[in-house]
Amino acid sequence: MNKKELLEGMRGLVSDRVILAMFRVPRELFVPDDLRSKAYEDTPLPIGYGQTISAPHMVAIMCSLLDLQEGMIVLEVGGGSGYHAAVIADLIGAQGHVYSIERIPGLVAQARSNLELAGIKNVTMIQGDGSIGLPEHAPYDRISVAAAAPNVPEPFKQQLKIEGKMVLPVGRGYQELLLVTRKNGFSVEQKMGVAFVPLVGEKGFKE
Ligand code: SAM
Repeated sequence: MNKKELLEGMRGLVSDRVILAMFRVPRELFVPDDLRSKAYEDTPLPIGYGQTISAPHMVAIMCSLLDLQEGMIVLEVGGGSGYHAAVIADLIGAQGHVYSIERIPGLVAQARSNLELAGIKNVTMIQGDGSIGLPEHAPYDRISVAAAAPNVPEPFKQQLKIEGKMVLPVGRGYQELLLVTRKNGFSVEQKMGVAFVPLVGEKGFKE
């Protein structure tokens, strides 16, 4: 499959803005060299350290659910290769900023270099345990979590702005993708069954 076939195939399932952003971000720069020929197959790919870059349709669905707008401040938990952060960064534009936290130092280094090669400037990759969020830059307009948590971690709720939205996979074994919206309280919508690597950390699963 090529990029055009992959992205055109998502029309109607996700927003057109997300499809356009994914046309602009070169996924091939975020996968290992020997897997570049598979960059536009709709599948997760290994990125080392037992981790994966999520499948393109999953990145598209999560970005679409978040309704990302110009100028937003976004927390991404589970930065991996930096690709998902790059797509978010494109959608929020130069006035917006993504703080992406990743627990594995080798992946942080790799993601920083991938983002630099792709010319993406509005992402800060941070090494640490993202299961407690990232209080330094809170509150966030949006939170995007790319690893499955046992439940919705309390720090994520506290670090979300009023009117903010968060998307995250939750579950042990079977996982559900949740869209959480903060108004007076929190509303939780179950969107679909998913399969993510576990969120490992203080408010996640134990190592
Ligand atoms: N968004 C990534 C991308 O575009 O390549 C893919 C993320 S991968 C599915 C999930 C990532 O979450 C892994 O890289 C893993 O190391 C990371 N992770 C797991 N627990 C974490 C935690 N507590 N804090 C930060 N990152 C974590």
